[in-house]
Amino acid sequence: MRAALVDRDGVLRNKASAETRPRDGFDVATRRFVELLRQASRGVPPGGIAAVGVSSAGPMDTTTGVYYNPPNLHGWDRKTMKPEIAASLRLTTVMGHDARVAAIAEARWGVARGMKNVIYVTVSTGIGGGILVDGRPVNGVQGLAGEMGHIVVDPGGTACNGGCRGCLEVIASGGGVANTARRRIAAGEKTRILELSGGDPERIVGRTVFEAAALGDAMALDLVERAIAALGIVLGGLLNTFAPEILIVGGSVGIEGLRPYWDRLDAAIRSRSLLRYHEKAPLAIAALGDDVGLMGAAAIAFDAAET
Ligand SMILES: [Zn+2]
Repeated sequence: MRAALVDRDGVLRNKASAETRPRDGFDVATRRFVELLRQASRGVPPGGIAAVGVSSAGPMDTTTGVYYNPPNLHGWDRKTMKPEIAASLRLTTVMGHDARVAAIAEARWGVARGMKNVIYVTVSTGIGGGILVDGRPVNGVQGLAGEMGHIVVDPGGTACNGGCRGCLEVIASGGGVANTARRRIAAGEKTRILELSGGDPERIVGRTVFEAAALGDAMALDLVERAIAALGIVLGGLLNTFAPEILIVGGSVGIEGLRPYWDRLDAAIRSRSLLRYHEKAPLAIAALGDDVGLMGAAAIAFDAAET
């Protein structure tokens, strides 16, 4: 969990952070988060803060802040921090889906500055995204839109945490490639991924697979190729559907893992989209780095304060 004071130019001050530790329970996490917000707002005179914006992983109803079976936040189902934050800080509080607010931040201050039609996909432990159409974020019912990680690309494939078989997340996320590597190792396949994880399959993460691929390991390269092919299908389909001005890839796996394969990824997307659509939407790396969530949360807070 991170917090910061953000001004209207997107400049961050008073950064504070703490571990989320979802296992400590929701109430402890909420108190810890409110304390972070207090640290971030120190030194500001009364009335000097427009609003509180929160960026969070989901699925979450962004109107109420209520989580619905969030896969990486065990025990947070049906709970919300929003009332506690608003009451403790006596400020308008708005909740945002992490990938959607990242898209908003990139369009306001980052690589998509000034653009109105933006697709942002974050490839990290999981895969999600945010879409801006005609300058407005696509929220969907209860703010649930943007789970392009669960578009199925291999109908016979393995099921994800959410229960869909062969979705993009299973094939191309950091968690997905790590799980597939573990399964193939258990089936007897030889790979340097195992030695890079100290011989313990449980320590394999997405980064381990990309490290092995950089060393020319055949299995790792195969996993990366499959990830790129799956991303090409989904991102190409999104280009055809939304006709954006830019297609942004963010997230740790997206930025660091896929960077060496950027031309391959670009070609995979082009092969799965119509000519006019990919010509108009360059593939770009997210520009705002680790601060994208803080900046996006600030963007929706300023918007809320103005309405
Ligand atoms: Zn899925």
